[in-house]
Amino acid sequence: MRLTCPHCGDRDLREFTYKGDALALSRPDPAADSKIWDDYLHNRDNPAGVTRELWYHAPCGGWMVAERDTTNHVTTRTLTLAEARS
Ligand SMILES: [Zn+2]
Repeated sequence: MRLTCPHCGDRDLREFTYKGDALALSRPDPAADSKIWDDYLHNRDNPAGVTRELWYHAPCGGWMVAERDTTNHVTTRTLTLAEARS
């Protein structure tokens, strides 16, 4: 299986590490209400369709977001963190 690093191009999946839902890029303000933090830390959607995942590419040390469809496991695109946040 292959995954495209936005910095290095098409690479073997074994070079990457899955780091969880890209929701981690939308961390609440440290002073946010405890209910907001509780929701952020413990509640996750489990959609059938496109999800955004955080991945780490060891050879270049780059982080990226992969958009993957959970119904067919096709990765539609990968983005740098700056691209994913904009
Ligand atoms: Zn890379």
